[in-house]
Amino acid sequence: LLAGCGGGSDEGGKDAKKDGDAIKLGVLVYKYDDTYISTVRSAIEKYAKEADVEIKLDMQDGQGDQSKQNDQLDVLISKGVDALLINAVDTGSAQGLADKAKAADIPAVFFNREPAKEVVEACEGIFVGTTASEAGVMQGDMLADMYEADKEAIDKNGDGKIQYIVFKGEPGNPEAEARTEYAVKQAEERGLVMDNMGIEPLVANWMTDQAQTQMEAQMSANGDKIEAVFCNNDDMALGAIAGINGKSDAPVFGVDATEAGMEAIKSGKMAGTVKQDGDAMGKALVAIGANAAQGKDFIEGTDYEMAEDGFSVRIPYAPITK
Ligand code: CA
Repeated sequence: LLAGCGGGSDEGGKDAKKDGDAIKLGVLVYKYDDTYISTVRSAIEKYAKEADVEIKLDMQDGQGDQSKQNDQLDVLISKGVDALLINAVDTGSAQGLADKAKAADIPAVFFNREPAKEVVEACEGIFVGTTASEAGVMQGDMLADMYEADKEAIDKNGDGKIQYIVFKGEPGNPEAEARTEYAVKQAEERGLVMDNMGIEPLVANWMTDQAQTQMEAQMSANGDKIEAVFCNNDDMALGAIAGINGKSDAPVFGVDATEAGMEAIKSGKMAGTVKQDGDAMGKALVAIGANAAQGKDFIEGTDYEMAEDGFSVRIPYAPITK
């Protein structure tokens, strides 16, 4: 039963792969300089190499600039990629990206930064991401677990409430909004009385230095009052920890389980994080992208399931404490 591809080899695998048969995946990344996204990029490269089919990646760094990313999409389309993996810089501008993919008749797999459902459906694409609320829920649970284990260690002033602040990624970013909301909601769900001390979520754009500067100001103003710090990502949590500078042992929570974040948990500086599994994300993107490039259904022959929302595959998070 030799395949009709010539060459006479029945060994299959890499020997059977021919350059002309390679799948071309165009990958638009919102910003290389993002720790979590770096793990996703590495995983995409790893799983593309291991795939049953030969995959050629053309990966582009949007550098956080939507107009730059629009140009990169034009270039990938002109190169004739077979499918697109799109990590939109600005999810509000995803319609333009979807329209271009649709016009070029190239399947689009959006990932990580979630466009509106209508946008994804308009180009018959799919979204691969997480459930935005899940990371926040897990942060709230970690604080509630700590409080239940030792109330006095958390509620230092003994007023029966948890004085807290939140560091937020970007206003309007669905992940940032959901993490900010659900961390507190879940703690309340577990019976904690949460008090933001009149301090609205502090926007630090996912960045360590911005979080540190703001945390230093908070330490001057409210350092003795703060009993918990929720951060939408580890990079900001590390900034908050630097800003606290050992002057408080209020638990700080992050999201991402970056290498630096995991070190901070091991050394006891960070109370917990939530792992957004970059490796699992990259693996899913390669499997789904390869299917799309071959004209198959996105999740055909994979272990992935369409989420209840009907337009996405959701990769689960996991909480991590010391
Ligand atoms: Ca208190």
